[in-house]
Amino acid sequence: MTFQQDNPADVLQSPLISVLDSYRMKIANCYFCGEHLKGKKSCEHVFPQWLLDDFDIREEMINATHYSQEGEVKSHRVHNLDNLLAGRICSHCNNGWMSELESQVKSNVLALAEDRKVVVELDQKARFELARWAFKTVLTLNLASNYRKIIPRDHYQWLFEQPNSLPKQVIVLAQQHHFTEPFYWIQSPSWVIQDKQNIINESMVESLYTKSYKIALLFKHLLLLVAYQPFTELYYVIWRGIHVPLFPLKGPLLYHERDDFEWSDSVKSIIQFHGSLFLGTLTESNNGIQADAAELRG
Ligand SMILES: [Zn+2]
Repeated sequence: MTFQQDNPADVLQSPLISVLDSYRMKIANCYFCGEHLKGKKSCEHVFPQWLLDDFDIREEMINATHYSQEGEVKSHRVHNLDNLLAGRICSHCNNGWMSELESQVKSNVLALAEDRKVVVELDQKARFELARWAFKTVLTLNLASNYRKIIPRDHYQWLFEQPNSLPKQVIVLAQQHHFTEPFYWIQSPSWVIQDKQNIINESMVESLYTKSYKIALLFKHLLLLVAYQPFTELYYVIWRGIHVPLFPLKGPLLYHERDDFEWSDSVKSIIQFHGSLFLGTLTESNNGIQADAAELRG
């Protein structure tokens, strides 16, 4: 079960890649490493088989409807989770670093999803591995789903080339709740902006719709959120005590506080978890709070 909302803007092109390059690579090259796909193409399961088997949701049907901002149905697909595959990935990537990343996180993802482990108790290394896996999962999800391709092409290359960090301006957050649905996702670049400095103009708003992304995933108890927006003058505003940062663990962040999180309903939880990540501007009074691992318990 998924929810995908769109705006009328055109499909995003990464600013680093010309339209022609993008066309060529789309046809013939691996999305991650750029290698020519001839004869080496393989399909990556967006959600790994160990996870589908453990949750017994291989046959779970996904009803992925892609809505326009006006609420019109743009496309509709029904398939089971086992068939949700991302093509355009070479077998070296699929069987190499992607499969290593799966083995690194497997036990933590299952323990967190089943509530045998608590997300705030993960150390920095485990947080980064989980963030990198969530990033990989949303990249392949966006590639495989009937939603516009909102993730810049260079983020795919980054994941392949940079094992120790994620692209600038990417944030990954987590939390656990009392689940009622084993699985859910939301892709929608919708933002609430707290602009106390009045620096936001129309073209920035337009760019946010076409050049940002915000994708939430739910695996039983575990909620994950991966987001990106391109403006350095805007800061993420996270919900104190609810959004637990996995990446980055340092740098200015703003907080907002509320106390009405829906812990006991998966659909409401993921909608709130996704919707309550805001953007804001720094003011003299809020000044940006340095988040570090020590205060991440919220
Ligand atoms: Zn590759």
